[in-house]
Amino acid sequence: MTDFRCMPISASIADRFRATGVDDGGNALRRRGPGADSRCPCRRCLRFSGPGQTVLLGSFHLAQPRGVYWSASPIFVHAEPCEAFDRVNEIPEIVRDSLVSVRAYDRDDMCLYDLGQVAEGRDVDRPLARALGDARTAFVNIHTAKPGCLLCRAERC
Ligand SMILES: [Zn+2]
Repeated sequence: MTDFRCMPISASIADRFRATGVDDGGNALRRRGPGADSRCPCRRCLRFSGPGQTVLLGSFHLAQPRGVYWSASPIFVHAEPCEAFDRVNEIPEIVRDSLVSVRAYDRDDMCLYDLGQVAEGRDVDRPLARALGDARTAFVNIHTAKPGCLLCRAERC
């Protein structure tokens, strides 16, 4: 499989959410937790929140794809600073433990429909390798398959 990296949202976005309490759409962030039932996928550390942790829910405006495939996505971020996911060839926890949609895009931000696939996170390696192994692919976004929220971006490295 091609070497790859799953990428969290940037520090500047996470910090801005935490500092301002406002999301990319101008909405007030919603705070959730710290209840025992709060198991929310943080887009900075790419881990699920645990008991005792508070998360922020807000709308994130994706940098890519631009153009006709651009979208916003609801995301959770830990309310307190957390360590950014930074590993090579590793599928993060929030992808592994979700039903996901793998979406590949080309250099012109156009969706490569033939490379798109829904998979259980534990089986995501093959569709991700297929998407990243295709020369047309510039980047991949991995979303939850049911609500369609962005989990992370994946790129070759
Ligand atoms: Zn986190």
